[in-house]
Parts: sequence; C-alpha cells; structure tokens
Amino acid sequence: MFAPDEAWSNARAYARRAAESLFSVLFPSDCRICGLPLLNVSRLPVCPECLARIHPVEGNVCSICGERVLSAYAEADDDGLRRCPACRRLDRPYERAVAYGSYDGGLRELIHLLKYNGVRPAARVLGRMLAEAWPTLEASFANETVLVVPVPLFKGKRRQRGFNQSELIAEAALKLYAANGRMQLASSLLLRVRDTHSQIGLTSHQRRENLRGAFAVARAQEVTGREVLLVDDVYTTGTTASECAKVLRRAGAAKVWVATVARTLKLASKYVDIAAGDPAVRVSEFQRFKVGA
Ligand SMILES: [Zn+2]
Ligand SMILES: [Zn+2]
Repeated sequence: MFAPDEAWSNARAYARRAAESLFSVLFPSDCRICGLPLLNVSRLPVCPECLARIHPVEGNVCSICGERVLSAYAEADDDGLRRCPACRRLDRPYERAVAYGSYDGGLRELIHLLKYNGVRPAARVLGRMLAEAWPTLEASFANETVLVVPVPLFKGKRRQRGFNQSELIAEAALKLYAANGRMQLASSLLLRVRDTHSQIGLTSHQRRENLRGAFAVARAQEVTGREVLLVDDVYTTGTTASECAKVLRRAGAAKVWVATVARTLKLASKYVDIAAGDPAVRVSEFQRFKVGA
C-alpha cells in the first residue's frame, strides 16, 4: 500500500543523514567520546586515543556465556571449558557465547553512536572487534559453511533507524575476516515478527514473556542441519540470544553459536557502581568483589 506521509518522512530522514555525513566529512568536529577537537577529517568522529582505549575483556570469563568468573570458578572442566555458576545449573539453547569487550566506556559510546546517532562508519570498527572474537568459536565449528545470522529488528524499527546495526556489524566483520568461505551472511533468515518493548528494568521472567513469539525463521529448510552464528551488538542478560537460539534450533539448526561486540559484565558493573554512587550499599559489594576476585 502506498503511504505518502511515510515515504516523505523516510526521504527526509535519508536526506538529513546524507547531509550530516557530508558535513562531518568536510568539517572535522569534536571527538564524540572525549569531546576534544579532532585533528584529522574522518568519517568516524572519534579520536584515535579513544579508539585505542577500547580493549577486549580481561580476566577469566565463562566459556559458555561469556560472563566474568571469580577465581573459584576459573578452573576449566574436563572438556577444557570454564563454567560460571549459572552455566553449571542451566542448559543454554546455544553452544557458547563470546563477546569482544565489556559494555561500558568508549565501547558503549561507540555502539550508541551507531545505533542512536546513525554514525554508520562506526560499524566498521565494531565489525573488526566482532571478528576478533570469532577465532575462539571457529575451532569448534563443523566443517561445512556456518550461517551468520544478525539478530533482526522489527521492520518498523528498522525503517525508522534506516539500518539494522547487527547486520552492518556482521557485514563489516565478514569483509575483514578471512573465513575462507566457511562463513556466510544470512540476513533475512531470522525475522522479528512482533514489536517488543525495551528489556530495561524487566525481571528475567518478564524479559522472556516480552520476547515470546517475537522471532521466527523465514525458510526453515535453509537452516535444517546447519550451524548458525548469531550476531548482535550487545549481550546483556542473554534473553534475546537465548530466544533466537531456541527459534533457530526449533527450525532445525544443528547448533547455534553467539558472538557480540560487547557484553555487560556483572563484576565490572558493580565495580563502576562503587565508584559512582552511594557508599553505604556499595561497600559490601566492593568487599565481595575484592575477596572473591
Ligand atoms: Zn576522543
Ligand atoms: Zn556462564
């Protein structure tokens, strides 16, 4: 159906984005992370120092979900994998989830620049980081080609944003990563068939309810017996990755792997809380972190 208002607003949004990106190419602005003036004209308005400060996750992480683990859980099991308390208890619908870095500081800002400010050149940098997280998984892949599936957006949201950030990041990563034909982008295989609310502030039960029935596989025959690498910008609670993995498995996928650019790390966020706020509550957390670590 022809919707003139919508077509007009899409065209306007496109023109605005084009003008903004042209402007940023012609006139160097300030770094969008630290605020200092940029010395060189760049399509990405972030200074090299801020980019250099973004690091991969440090320390021991759970081999299954990527959460940081305390030293008590740092020993690997007989299969060579390290498991956090939750992954010892739960059966995850995916094999393993890896992330490049912690979802805070400059990395969080960079993801926000892409997602909420439409700074598309950020996707290339984020794609490089995503590709750096892949080798950990690649050793476990089956011999046939793995389907790379970005977590989809609902079509209204995608239209509004103009792109799906996970897809742009996956494309950029595949361009940089020498997979020798072992990885193939399959963007339209997984669909978000229902709009969902933000997951922020919901309990784990509410998060699962919010996503129930939100995803569907478009062509089940393409996924049957195949291994899938699910790609997203951020892994927060894992509810989205788990729901997508369940839907892919139900459609016949042999295995689902998960890779994200960033991950929220519980111990890291507690540490940040201590620095930021209310000392009364934080002291015990801090001690627990210190003692536990
Ligand atoms: Zn900077
Ligand atoms: Zn875990």
